[in-house]
Amino acid sequence: MDYPEIAKPEPGRMKVRPNLDAPALSSGFDWQQIENELRDKTGEINLPYLAIDRHATSPRRDKPALIWEGRNGKSECYSFGDLALASNRFANVLSGFGIKKGDRVFTFLERVPELYAVVFGTLKLGAIIGPLFADFGPEPVRDRLRDAGARVLVTSPTLKAHIADILAELPELEHIIIVDRSRQYARGEKEILFHQAMDSASPDFTGSYPGADDYAIMHYTSGTTGKPKGAVHIHRAAIQHYATGKWVLDFHENDIYWCTADPGWVTGTSYGMFAPWTNGITQVVYEGGFRASAWYSIIEKYRVTVWYTAPTAIRMLMKAGEVAAAHHDLGSLRHICSVGEPLNPEAVMWGLKVFQQPIHDNWWQTETGAILIANYAFMPVRPGSMGRPIPGVRAAILGDDYTEVPPGTEGHLAIRPGWPSMFQTYWHSPDLYQSRFKNGWYITGDRARTDGDGYFWFVGRTDDVINTAGHLVGPFEVESALIEHPAVAEAGVIGKPDPIAMEVVKAFVSLKEGYQPTPELRRELVNLTRRKLAAAVAPREIEFLPSLPKTRSGKIMRRLLKAKELGLPLGDTSTLEEF
Ligand code: ATP
Ligand code: MG
Repeated sequence: MDYPEIAKPEPGRMKVRPNLDAPALSSGFDWQQIENELRDKTGEINLPYLAIDRHATSPRRDKPALIWEGRNGKSECYSFGDLALASNRFANVLSGFGIKKGDRVFTFLERVPELYAVVFGTLKLGAIIGPLFADFGPEPVRDRLRDAGARVLVTSPTLKAHIADILAELPELEHIIIVDRSRQYARGEKEILFHQAMDSASPDFTGSYPGADDYAIMHYTSGTTGKPKGAVHIHRAAIQHYATGKWVLDFHENDIYWCTADPGWVTGTSYGMFAPWTNGITQVVYEGGFRASAWYSIIEKYRVTVWYTAPTAIRMLMKAGEVAAAHHDLGSLRHICSVGEPLNPEAVMWGLKVFQQPIHDNWWQTETGAILIANYAFMPVRPGSMGRPIPGVRAAILGDDYTEVPPGTEGHLAIRPGWPSMFQTYWHSPDLYQSRFKNGWYITGDRARTDGDGYFWFVGRTDDVINTAGHLVGPFEVESALIEHPAVAEAGVIGKPDPIAMEVVKAFVSLKEGYQPTPELRRELVNLTRRKLAAAVAPREIEFLPSLPKTRSGKIMRRLLKAKELGLPLGDTSTLEEF
């Protein structure tokens, strides 16, 4: 291991006692325990009851659930009681249109408070919610609505205007609900004004809640490795959202939590709605996009204690420099977590310097619905490792014959099926779903290894692993080595076909402000990787780019770098961020 383990403070010096401890992580565990803990006298196991309604009928009724800050700097606050009434109203609005259990209701909406009423109202009715990212162009919206057969779309005047041309191509779409915060919008054909409909709907919902095994939500994957797939989840997932909120995000009653992910991606719902609220925690939502100073201001202003963000955001903060952080009082932060891509060890060390605590990496996917592998508040962090599986989840590394390999050997990262938030299907693609299960395991599509202590280390996506002169090279280790150089902001590494070595390692690098792409710098970077890794693994070629192609959820798209390099078709680019 390159970086020393980061020890935890002595228990007496921790701000709070972590919810999970070593014996609990290692001891036998049955999900039924958590289910029993959650199942109160009503017996309900479903997302809207566990996240909203049970708090609304408890002493938490007036506790802020959502503190929302708009782009204009104004904030609004909603209690659990407010969200219960608003979601009741929306469930009634939908049922007034004849929407019923199993129907698909999609949102294509900015990050506004109304979104939460829509999501939980849809869930209450037993309909399936499909949140889309507000930055999508018309085609990705059309493809997803069409694939899912959406009956209702909830959008805003601005976003509606973006997609006006594709609406005629969606015969199954019956209703468009417009959330117009300015109340100026002139309603068009097929359209319903959200606020008007809500005002005339009853705040009492008399229907029955959906069951634990009913479909609840569908999310299309990020499209990093190919065409996005619609992963479908059930209400039982709430059990794992709750448990991981406790164990991984280490929620305590008075926390102020901030999840920076957009609700159009699974992190933005599982951890931007379900995990905090099933735990009765107050969360901050910021409507605006990324800007280092704005983000630090949110932490400072709302005294955020628990922060869940992504490597790409952390790399951008690193790019903005330590000085930007020094202008703010970030002392409220107690626990920081990251997901979405491998978290470079350098980023963990940077967190230690700037926030006086390590950033806790954790691993999961759209398909897994919730966190499966994590670094915990009680456990020393090994920079570069994703941590250890959560209680009740068995993860393993398998060889190409899908049997387990010993620690230290790289292979397929696989999970024993049966965790509560496991996806139930890919919409309209049952065969693709089945193909992900082999020999009694769910095959994640990622490669990893374990060390002798059960920590998991990410190697790369199966599709991205490079075979050079007989060595299998994970792009992550090369990228992490490159990013240690003070000039490097981001790195993306691919295998380039080569007649002798089969593939050679090629790196694409973007630089921090003030650095120039010179031949000397190129030499320095090659030498750095040779020294840190091995000559065979060091990039043979380095190309400097102003920025790297990323998905709209911030993941580096290596397949696109490769397609461009080889002059091949780019494939599905619906989730590509403009760059
Ligand atoms: P697609 O499946 O469409 O190619 P995607 O896999 O990027 O897109 P998501 O479900 O959003 O879609 O992302 C999950 C993937 O992100 C994981 O399979 C893994 O490759 C990567 N990932 C997430 N968290 C981590 C992490 N902590 N370390 C390394 N990789 C991670
Ligand atoms: Mg994937």
